Amino acid sequence: MHTEILQIKNFIDGRFVEPITGRYLDNIEPATGKPYSQVADSDAHDVDLAVAAAERAFRDWSKKTAAERSNFLLRIAELIERDLEKFARAESIDTGKPISLARSLDIPRSIANFRFFATAILHTESEAHITDNVAFNYTLRQPRGIAGLISPWNLPLYLLSWKIAPAIAVGNTAIAKPSELTPMTAYMLCEMAREASLPNGVLNVVHCTGPKVGSAITAHPKINTISFTGGTATGRKVAEACAPLFKKVSLELGGKNPNIVFADADLDAAIAGSVRSSFANQGQVCLCGSRVFVERSAYKDFVERFIERTAQLCLGDPLDENTEQGAIVNRTQLEKVKFYVDLAQKEGGKIALGGSAPQAPNERCGEGYFFQPTVITGLSVSCRTNREEIFGPVVTITPFDSEEEVINYANDVEYGLSSTVWTQNLSRAHRVAERINTGTVWVNCWLVRDLRVPFGGMKQSGVGREGGEEALRFFTEPKNVCIAK
Ligand code: NDP
Repeated sequence: MHTEILQIKNFIDGRFVEPITGRYLDNIEPATGKPYSQVADSDAHDVDLAVAAAERAFRDWSKKTAAERSNFLLRIAELIERDLEKFARAESIDTGKPISLARSLDIPRSIANFRFFATAILHTESEAHITDNVAFNYTLRQPRGIAGLISPWNLPLYLLSWKIAPAIAVGNTAIAKPSELTPMTAYMLCEMAREASLPNGVLNVVHCTGPKVGSAITAHPKINTISFTGGTATGRKVAEACAPLFKKVSLELGGKNPNIVFADADLDAAIAGSVRSSFANQGQVCLCGSRVFVERSAYKDFVERFIERTAQLCLGDPLDENTEQGAIVNRTQLEKVKFYVDLAQKEGGKIALGGSAPQAPNERCGEGYFFQPTVITGLSVSCRTNREEIFGPVVTITPFDSEEEVINYANDVEYGLSSTVWTQNLSRAHRVAERINTGTVWVNCWLVRDLRVPFGGMKQSGVGREGGEEALRFFTEPKNVCIAK
């Protein structure tokens, strides 16, 4: 029987529309290596259509009251929640991540993003300043216009909703571009937007590759705000495209995050937390702690138990409920992981666990992109494996002798996204947190998220902060009104 393959169309002006070229790209399921849908092969002309729709919509949308906009966002959250299971399945098929992870983390956090910004806009404060006896100033924060929102494949709905929700909550209209590797949940989100009767043109989604659609968005003169999440090399291109047009830009980029275990830590918690922060989503989370440092007196014990726990992770078909390790997103990423495992060995590293592709977990996954969780020891801190972002299920473990030494190790990379510290010594926790140059420092936990806190990276991990008040400010333009007394 011939089953028709789904064609993921663009969402422009409240309708699903064909790309102008009429062409589509195959969308491959990572677990099987086979196409399971097709995605619009759009270009700059489709972006033009989206800009026209977003520009028309802005006039009314920006005038709506906060309470009116809030209701639309809450409705979207409610609809995603209603279809949570469908979303989780789609996310798992699209990305190769275990369905249990999509169900417990990605989709609930996407719903939370809409709810958070829907309610945040109802509770903002305005600033006013009295200038001696001379004048009275107040600050108007107005929506900026059309926001271009570009996101990667690892947490597709979560990261896109993290941008869409604040952008439209404060009255902008949006043109979003998900990664062409993982377009499915963005497509489903558009269905929810339509069902929620979000006014046409407020949210537009244009699919295709970064060089075609992403660069058309960053280059478009009418899109004055760009929020980008992705790799550091791409972030540099985005910054270069935006600078001559003086766009307001937020860049959330790569990481090579240290995970530091002091000998005084609760070792059970540190091991469980470290296995999770090393291998969640097959290590394809920008916040994964891919460089593990353990104080020498606890090193041997930690390594043995960490390996034992990691070896128990259940690698399997992402759609299987028991699976804890799914597939790598595509062949290119899988090759990159293999390249770094080979490099680590050339650099003198010892593969303490994993290091190769496993047997396919079942017949369906025969051609899928799987790699074993891999632990490497014996590397120098300064080697390439310890400095470059791999973005896969590969961690290195290195011993250290002093607080000073490990702080230097932690900071001695070009990235500065996040770090984790395991210790029961409160003074040390504060001391180390203050000196590590990362946008987030987790102490005795990982991936705990409060949507009110500023989120972002230092150094080459990004520019600007998202989250809470920072996001509401990013997507608005402050205007000072000064009235003489
Ligand atoms: P990429 O940088 O390759 O892509 C990110 C997005 O940018 C994709 O939608 C991509 O499109 C698009 N893009 C590619 N080229 C351009 C261009 N010239 N102009 C505009 N847009 C473009 O990253 P990945 O998708 O490979 O994601 C992995 C990276 O993202 C890792 O480095 C990871 O650390 C980082 N990341 C950072 C996070 C953070 O919060 N700091 C969170 C999550 C991931 P397409 O893929 O369709 O070609």
